[in-house]
Amino acid sequence: MSRQSIIIIGAGVLGASLAFRLAQGGAKVTIIEAGEIGGGTSSTSFAWVNAHDKNPRGYHDLNVAGMAAHRLLAKELDGDWYHESGCLEWRDAGGRDAHVANVDRLQSWGYDARWISADQALGLAPSINSTAIGDAPVALFPDEGWLDTGSYVRGLLAAASALDTTVVTNARVSGVEWAGRKVEGVRAEAGILYQADTVVNCMGRWADDPVLPEELRVPMSPSYGLLVYVELPGIHLDHVLFTPRCHIRPDSSGRLLICKNDAIHALGPDSILDPAMPEADALIQEASHVIPALTSTKASEVKLGIRAVPADGLPAIGPIPGIDGYYVSVMHSGITLAPVIGSMVAAELLDGHREAALAPFRPDRILFPGRKRKHA
Ligand SMILES: Cc1cc2nc3c(=O)[nH]c(=O)nc-3n(C[C@H](O)[C@H](O)[C@H](O)COP(=O)(O)OP(=O)(O)OC[C@H]3O[C@@H](n4cnc5c(N)ncnc54)[C@H](O)[C@@H]3O)c2cc1C
Repeated sequence: MSRQSIIIIGAGVLGASLAFRLAQGGAKVTIIEAGEIGGGTSSTSFAWVNAHDKNPRGYHDLNVAGMAAHRLLAKELDGDWYHESGCLEWRDAGGRDAHVANVDRLQSWGYDARWISADQALGLAPSINSTAIGDAPVALFPDEGWLDTGSYVRGLLAAASALDTTVVTNARVSGVEWAGRKVEGVRAEAGILYQADTVVNCMGRWADDPVLPEELRVPMSPSYGLLVYVELPGIHLDHVLFTPRCHIRPDSSGRLLICKNDAIHALGPDSILDPAMPEADALIQEASHVIPALTSTKASEVKLGIRAVPADGLPAIGPIPGIDGYYVSVMHSGITLAPVIGSMVAAELLDGHREAALAPFRPDRILFPGRKRKHA
């Protein structure tokens, strides 16, 4: 059988993971990135590696597989990107029943989730204010961690390049070449044509970009998250903290990263971000209830993350029925999932194998209604 040629659009965590596994499997890979590698959502992520509150069960299991794959991949490539720090979680009075139910469910699924005392939590993270915990039950998730996404993407693409991968940066794909129902390649903005047996959409939140014909787009439902980095000399934090106020974790830059999932703010893709912006101060004030040393700290950097969420919230992974030579791999929680999805998708593309764990996540369930009508 002749060697497969595969184009991946997008060099985020998902594209990089797939490029490495495909190259390892003998494919000739070209990965085309509009900007710099790892510069998309992967660089504006809280990057917590977890299967903490992921439903339904199949999605939880996929995230657990992602956690295990991170551990193995970091060993395989001697990478310094995965920090298996553990996570501490407590919730406010209104969220406690749900917290207990979640920990119960995780334990019944065999996930390592342990109740610890507030004193034990303070022993693990002495910078926390004990009153922030109060009488709330605290759960420890020892197997969770966080990812240095820049180091991960660079590491995976270096390993892929050492096999046979061409990495093209600052080259936005502006169109798809197809004949009949077969995708044959892509055209980049400079007019250069790249041809391959298969094109994979790893475009993250841009997976519905009009540069793609409508039939090849993935309907998306993005949401926004504010990320605030602070320098706090003398304060040491090992764990990811998942608190009712906000989430906090250490970062490889030596700073702390603060994020809030459900923050309501008026920020959007066109907002001008500035470390002095009131939204950043407000988030730091929330975090200072957890780590009092943050009280008079200012942000050193602010980022707005735009989540790559397919229309129904779950991953979209697989071919599009009726179209040859095209495959999509687009999802939220992509930091956790990237290494396992890279391996599974590479196996599907190289061996024609159909991975049972991906069955609930095929993209045809959410395709644009117009397309569904045409090809139902
Ligand atoms: C605030 C926030 C918090 C998050 N927290 C977590 C978390 O704690 N844990 C977790 O697991 N996940 C988390 N996520 C989700 C996770 O970050 C994403 O799922 C993941 O980064 C997606 O990776 P990707 O490779 O698909 O996308 P990206 O990193 O965005 O990569 C896609 C790439 O495609 C390129 N591209 C797009 N269009 C074109 C084109 N036309 N031509 C060429 N290139 C193109 C882009 O430039 C980009 O680099 C979070 C996300 C956000 C926003």
